[in-house]
Amino acid sequence: MRVPLIAGNWKMNTTVSEAVELVNQMRPELDRIDNVEKVICPPFVSLAAIKELLKGSTIKLGAQNLYFEEKGAYTGEISPSMVADLCQFVIIGHSERRQHFNETIEVVDKKVKAALEVGLTPILCIGESLEENEAGRTEEVLTRQISSPSDQKYYFGGLVLAYEPIWAIGTGRAATGKQANETIGFIRQRISQQHSMKAAQEVRVLYGGSVTADNIAEFVNQPEIDGALVGGASLKASEFLSIVKQTSEIKRVR
Ligand code: PEP
Repeated sequence: MRVPLIAGNWKMNTTVSEAVELVNQMRPELDRIDNVEKVICPPFVSLAAIKELLKGSTIKLGAQNLYFEEKGAYTGEISPSMVADLCQFVIIGHSERRQHFNETIEVVDKKVKAALEVGLTPILCIGESLEENEAGRTEEVLTRQISSPSDQKYYFGGLVLAYEPIWAIGTGRAATGKQANETIGFIRQRISQQHSMKAAQEVRVLYGGSVTADNIAEFVNQPEIDGALVGGASLKASEFLSIVKQTSEIKRVR
């Protein structure tokens, strides 16, 4: 049984005081929901304050990135151990980082390994662009994104994957539940071939891309989809709560 997971990617939003206020609004109700893993990923600068605030809470903390080196002359970067000191999860390879910060498949692979080495659970984002989708290249792109360019030395089933078609992120144009379910089914099949059947069955795969309280049910009703990575809608307490609550109800009866 895979435990459902809803993660909120706050991206580059909220000052420390705004982040604290948002957590205070969400925490009491989120803490009452027990069958869904709840993860919030605020900006780096708020992580220490929020870790303190979440003492005794069931809400888990994630970072939005890390650098793969452990220490040294990398001005501005944050190491895996620094993140692991504060968080349990880390988003890796978000399409915005691949696009705006030139993160290649090789860099993403190093980050996944570095995160696992310090005990973090990576939320590895994969997904095709509109152009790739329209050219019928979705499966080829996803296959490349889940194939480590170096020797695979970690257990893929221990990751969380987020299938995020780039054309659906922040656009208000979500995939349909059926489309996402089929694509995630394909991802599991590839993982089974490239890694192992056990990994394919155990890896949690989220859908991401314009998820809201109005459409979450469509996704979590699908058998291959274990939850969602939520961007914009995770910045509104009532919206994020509704997403988590609906997931809890739907996955409880399945
Ligand atoms: C994201 O940031 O990963 C995301 C899916 O954003 P949004 O929900 O705003 O489309």
